[in-house]
Amino acid sequence: MRIEHHQVHHVRPRHLLVRIVTDGGLVGWGEATLEGHTLAVAGAIGQLMRMIAGEDPRRIEHLWQRMYRGSFYRGGPVLGSAISGIEQALWDILGKSLNAPVHALLGGAVRDRIRMYAQIDASTPERAVEDYRRKRATGITAFKLVPWDAVKPVDSPAVVQRVVDTMEALRTEAGDGVDFALDAHGRLSPAMSIRVAEAIAPYQPMFLEEPCLPENVDAMVTVARSTTVPIATGERLITRWAFREVIEKQAAAILQPDPSHVGGILETRKIAAMAETYYMAVAPHCPLSGVALAACLAVDACLPNFLIQEHVTLGEDLLAEPFVIEGGHVAVSTKPGLGIEIDESKLAALACDGHWQTPELRHDDGAVADW
Ligand SMILES: [Mg+2]
Repeated sequence: MRIEHHQVHHVRPRHLLVRIVTDGGLVGWGEATLEGHTLAVAGAIGQLMRMIAGEDPRRIEHLWQRMYRGSFYRGGPVLGSAISGIEQALWDILGKSLNAPVHALLGGAVRDRIRMYAQIDASTPERAVEDYRRKRATGITAFKLVPWDAVKPVDSPAVVQRVVDTMEALRTEAGDGVDFALDAHGRLSPAMSIRVAEAIAPYQPMFLEEPCLPENVDAMVTVARSTTVPIATGERLITRWAFREVIEKQAAAILQPDPSHVGGILETRKIAAMAETYYMAVAPHCPLSGVALAACLAVDACLPNFLIQEHVTLGEDLLAEPFVIEGGHVAVSTKPGLGIEIDESKLAALACDGHWQTPELRHDDGAVADW
């Protein structure tokens, strides 16, 4: 079996898909979306695919090593996302060639169904409750919110109170049988994170994500040591080498590798095994399309330390058969490869030029804030 050719597809609103075709006509799909940088990733995919053209697509580890180590410069989100998209497509091809789901090739499923969480709009406490009610009615029992905009390094009590009011409203509405997580998007300084974590701890959030930016692991350790709220991080970390310090310093309780950035499905599996040695849980990051979600679900199925899966779509806009949530869970796939089929007419309707830009967030004095 040989890799014959590939294409990249820029898909609205901001996605980048990779399609690899073998000499025997097998097709594998992967997602390499890197918001605001998809054109750079598409260029990297072209260069990497030239390195592995004509190779046996089933030698996934070997091809990964060639792509990662073979170009001297390594790491970073652009190369990481490019390798990830290609790697997912290789797993899809391997699974289809063996008529086996990807999870069956990674040690087999350790669960029957995968718990999902939904995002809720927390622009005000009232909106949060309203959105919670609507999404809770679908059977989902875990939710994530971002109850802040730009936050100053030390901000007013009103910023903290908005978060407390939101958590209070949600707990009052939902009771104690539902989980709520908060995503700080790296917008808080360590000082503000510690203050916020203290204020929300009585509501026992499932986790506080990226309480500060992930570039300085020691700063996150300071936050993690200050609170009983479990800290989550990892969506912006690329490869196991970036996760090593987070794990060894126990900077977080929950790791969030993204199989579309971190290096792919097997890299996520390896990071989860590293996390297991410190009893950390894994909740893969996925704000992307149904293709990336399929890659997440494939690895979720076989992780003993899996916690929960993020999603923003079930692939309704792109897949012939979108995923289905029942009772807050998606069933482990029994279909070969990643278990998805791209609807070519939907794909054509979503085609775009890839010029999507990440929105900018500003402080009230005009200075750039972290998005
Ligand atoms: Mg996040």
